[in-house]
Amino acid sequence: MKNFEKNVILITGAGMGLGLATAWEAAALGAKLVLVDYNEEALQKAKSDLTKDYSGLEVLIIKADVSKEEEVKAYVNETIEKFGQIDGFYNNAGIEGKQASITEYDIDIFKKVVDINLMGVYYGLRYVLPHMQERKYGRIVNVASVGGIRGVMNQMPYVASKHAVSGMTKNTALEYAQYGITSNAIAPGAILTPMVAEAFKQVNPADPQAAEKDYAQANPAKRLGLPAEVAKVVCFLLSKDCSYVNGQTIAIDGGQSNSYGNV
Ligand code: NAD
Repeated sequence: MKNFEKNVILITGAGMGLGLATAWEAAALGAKLVLVDYNEEALQKAKSDLTKDYSGLEVLIIKADVSKEEEVKAYVNETIEKFGQIDGFYNNAGIEGKQASITEYDIDIFKKVVDINLMGVYYGLRYVLPHMQERKYGRIVNVASVGGIRGVMNQMPYVASKHAVSGMTKNTALEYAQYGITSNAIAPGAILTPMVAEAFKQVNPADPQAAEKDYAQANPAKRLGLPAEVAKVVCFLLSKDCSYVNGQTIAIDGGQSNSYGNV
């Protein structure tokens, strides 16, 4: 029997990048999928590609902005109406914001980063947890970042919001472990997704590929990570096998966060 057979896996930010990669991995493991994103076109494409490769795969797509509480409540309710349960919740949607120094950071963008990365994750927990509590089972993976365990130059709101994700993960573990629910976070380093491609353009607008090379060079593995490598870890954390790892923030960064400086 496949690991996710009879499991409903709910993924936010599922239209591309890390969310989409996990959708593919979860489909291979036999899950029923609920894909949430505010980019409807990306959702339609994800569903069409996935069902082409996995005939019989059940996929519900829901357009929602995770920073809007009512839309979060609605995507959770729609999931329960359709499938009756949520076994795994990949609370992944997030944005980077713009790169700028602390005193020059645009305050509206700061608030937007916090609304999506912090409040969006919180709303997800607020509405998913009661269903998991009722069933006395659930697996949650929140997405922090290496910016959730250390500082990152010129990205203060991102770093603040991702440290908050790590904190919310710990609190969820403390308050909900008694109901058979585990809550962990991942802290990816630089993984090749559309978000990171955009970041390289900001770091070096004239030559984004040079920025990518610099990042790879600074990593002990001498390369960036791939979304599929993250998805493997996430799917373990979303599985019933992850029964006694709780409240952790797990770096997926080729070892880079162990370093004091460049390697
Ligand atoms: P991405 O930009 O490639 O994909 C993010 C997806 O989330 C997109 O489909 C986007 O439409 C969706 N999304 C964004 N804001 C949303 C909102 N308010 N409501 C609904 N959907 C929304 O990004 P990614 O690299 O896949 O990042 C996914 C998560 O991983 C983010 O939380 C990000 O901070 C985190 N992360 C990524 C990296 C990396 O190297 N890629 C590193 C550390 C952390």
